Amino acid sequence: MIDFHCHLDLYRDPIALLSEVSRRCEFVLAVTTSPRAWVKTSKVFQDIACVATAIGFHPEILQERIAERDALIAGISQTPFIGEVGIDGSPRYANSIKMQEEVFCDVIQESERCGGRILSIHSRNAATKVLDILEKYSVKNIPVLHWFSGSSNELDRAIGLGTWFSVNPIMASANKGASLIAKIPLSKLLPETDAPFAQNKGVPYMPWDTSIVIRQFANIFNISVADVELEMKKNLKYLLETYRDE
Ligand SMILES: [Zn+2]
Repeated sequence: MIDFHCHLDLYRDPIALLSEVSRRCEFVLAVTTSPRAWVKTSKVFQDIACVATAIGFHPEILQERIAERDALIAGISQTPFIGEVGIDGSPRYANSIKMQEEVFCDVIQESERCGGRILSIHSRNAATKVLDILEKYSVKNIPVLHWFSGSSNELDRAIGLGTWFSVNPIMASANKGASLIAKIPLSKLLPETDAPFAQNKGVPYMPWDTSIVIRQFANIFNISVADVELEMKKNLKYLLETYRDE
């Protein structure tokens, strides 16, 4: 299984999960919520072949940890994977919105300066802001919009900009999510869990629960589960190889 956006470090006992993750997953992108967490988490997961750890700074905690901004920018040259980064335009974070936009702008520009990075991007209630910045500054980067919840017009714009999308079981099971997914080319989709934040009846999804997303894709696109699995493997390979070629 592939899980392209998982907060693996935030499970109650991540170490205890690692042998099953290794057995059941071919690739897990372990996103982090702060540069400091990335330093620690990337050490813990460094010997697990199927886990890549991304340096991130979650927009929800950006303001309280803004002192880590320089560490974030400095870390971008050290890893191909950036996330979770982005902008949250929800009313709760309204007073940090300018700061969020500035930092996201810096992240995109530094990623470009480093030759392009693969970024897992949060865009809740801020899809237009995120797309404005990508359109202006992102050329070599590979942006992957995680749990996209923008409008249909914003989706069209994102597709036009060539962004990728990672989808979790909650997004795919909601009517709005499913109708958005149906418009995305299968060649730009990857499955994710966003666990342990994303849960099913109070129980966090596990990285291998992206099998649920695979079945949902099979329904939405009316193709077999085996074909979706093949497509997702191809997408992952393409994405990782495109990155390496540059
Ligand atoms: Zn997340």
